[in-house]
Amino acid sequence: MKLSRILSNQNGVSRKHANALVAAGRVTVNGNVCREGSMDVDRFATVAVDNNIIQQGTEALYLMLHKPAGYLSATEDKVHPTVLDLIAPDLRAGLHIAGRLDRATTGLLILTNHGTWSRGLTEPRVRIPKVYRVTTAHPISPETAARFAEGIWFEYEQLTTSPAHIEPIDATNARLTIYEGRYHQVKRMFHAVGNRVVSLHRERMGAIALDQTLDPGQYRTLTAQETQSVP
Ligand code: URA
Repeated sequence: MKLSRILSNQNGVSRKHANALVAAGRVTVNGNVCREGSMDVDRFATVAVDNNIIQQGTEALYLMLHKPAGYLSATEDKVHPTVLDLIAPDLRAGLHIAGRLDRATTGLLILTNHGTWSRGLTEPRVRIPKVYRVTTAHPISPETAARFAEGIWFEYEQLTTSPAHIEPIDATNARLTIYEGRYHQVKRMFHAVGNRVVSLHRERMGAIALDQTLDPGQYRTLTAQETQSVP
């Protein structure tokens, strides 16, 4: 929301008066004087006029969970346990998932209450690499790497996936890097080359790698360096 609107909503003054307060240097955002009434300010920022707080910033929360198999990437479900059940009740309010995993998929799952931040991690146009460890039912054919590098046509979305990189580990295990997070993307890519995924584990999203000290079901807050790594 624009700073001048926050001031007029919370302070009961006209937009014109709000802009005058800003121009006079009486308004701070997170402790810094701001002279642009048109500046976009989110709910995580603290806004003050003459040192009186008009908006107390909500605390942003960023969690890394080692998702176990069997948990839905959802905030509630009537049948299956959800990943939110693994988070302490006092931390759950307002959390959403930044890049879902299928119920059987394990590994790195990020939860946050900061929508703009999570879009920087998940929007396909940002092209954040997502790294998966994949086990397949059949040996990974030699042409798989070339097909994934060309991109796979997804009929439902009417698009070709971005070039993906596969690094073989052995006949049926590989490390796959993709740059989007489309519905069942990895499974559909292997299906397109006549194979089938039997297990899937996300190791990394961009610069954020699953902390090896976390057992399945455990989580921790992201470090400042990890949160700042997201554009
Ligand atoms: N691709 C899939 O098919 N499943 C996941 O859980 C993640 C990526």
